[in-house]
Amino acid sequence: MDESNLFGKDRTSPRFLLECLACRREQARSALRCAAGCDSLLQTRYQAASFQPNGAGNLFRFADWLPCEGGLPTTVGPVVHGCEKLGRRLGLTRLFCCFNGYWPEIGACNPTGTFKDLEAVPTLKAFADQGRRRIVLASAGNTARAFAHAAQATAVEVYIVVPEAMLHRLWLPGSHPADRVRLIAVKGSSDYSEAIEVADEISLRYGIDPEGGARNVARRDGLGTVMLEAARSLGCLPRHYFQAVGSGTGAIAAFEAAQRLAGDARFAGAPMPRLHLGQNAPFLPIYCAWKQQAAIDRAASWTRPGEEVYASVLANRNPPYAIRGGVRDVLAWSEGEVYAVSSADAVQAGQEFAEDEGIDLEPAAAVAVASLRQAVAGRLVAPDDLILINLTGGGLEALRRDFGLRALVPDLLVERGKLDAIAAIV
Ligand SMILES: *Cc1c(COP(=O)(O)O)cnc(C)c1O
Repeated sequence: MDESNLFGKDRTSPRFLLECLACRREQARSALRCAAGCDSLLQTRYQAASFQPNGAGNLFRFADWLPCEGGLPTTVGPVVHGCEKLGRRLGLTRLFCCFNGYWPEIGACNPTGTFKDLEAVPTLKAFADQGRRRIVLASAGNTARAFAHAAQATAVEVYIVVPEAMLHRLWLPGSHPADRVRLIAVKGSSDYSEAIEVADEISLRYGIDPEGGARNVARRDGLGTVMLEAARSLGCLPRHYFQAVGSGTGAIAAFEAAQRLAGDARFAGAPMPRLHLGQNAPFLPIYCAWKQQAAIDRAASWTRPGEEVYASVLANRNPPYAIRGGVRDVLAWSEGEVYAVSSADAVQAGQEFAEDEGIDLEPAAAVAVASLRQAVAGRLVAPDDLILINLTGGGLEALRRDFGLRALVPDLLVERGKLDAIAAIV
């Protein structure tokens, strides 16, 4: 796309704009939805058309293509690392991972151990830039930790709603302060969608900004730094991109970043990386919708009562699938593929990776490795193809060793439908 038209030659024009992918109209910077009502994601259009990473040692190296002003002192950032041993196991000669956990020996220092740190930092910085000081979000664990950590550096107050059964996943490393975190647990709940309901209600009732999830461009552009770092360190776009998906936000972001790179002459002309997305059986909403060319089955009960999937962070029953620019589109546009991975295969893939590389993987990242194994077996990738696998989390043991993990104590335990108690902490 010709981005110059949007900005013209005016030197005072803004560094970036938001645009609806469907109607192409410009939107307010804080918008999550198209003002004209299109069922579409919004995207950022940056004035900088060429890819020029700066010297920062964290994700703000890509500040030109992040929708916030300047950077922050943070260790958060994507790190690309050659996976020779795993490659040899699988018969692949050019396999690289982007390790988005904590593995200081290769320079990966995401403080809460997953790629959610890549979303939280620019998202909260963008809120702070706009003078918005309170946000509310629902999480099943990893997102909550990342936002709880980033709240401190950005001085935004973060109201986090979690199902009570997932409270054990809420910790921060060492003595990292949690002054700006308000943690609300939904009593007796183990269901992420109930936390979403409560968060929505808190937002409406108390006028606290919703964080926005996949619709928030700062979140996607933060995750897109994975693809940008691959381009920076490898000098070209990978042919294949593997990731385990729940909402699919990370996959959408990877595609968008590749498109943005293709606007730079150095990366133009190359095919878009094929997206290879993995889900953990039996929780397969994206897999089933893609394979059956159908809508996401929102009523399906993917698990039996009491059954938990191994990679529980992927258990999202409401991904942004059919929306313009969403998961279905980026799969189609990249000629992508979706894999169903059994928990046993994921466990084995994680163990092999730990043996080869000496670092533990988050279950979701193990699902991605098992997806790659399936793709090799099915000859969907060639031995010499350039492959990037996004290892979305790992290094928990090293985090525990280096900092210790401190459990977050909820400020409030609420029952659904009885949210008056929240007035005490807003
Ligand atoms: C959230 C998460 C995912 C899935 O990412 P989506 O963007 O929701 O598809 C994968 N791995 C880890 C470790 C996560 O925390």
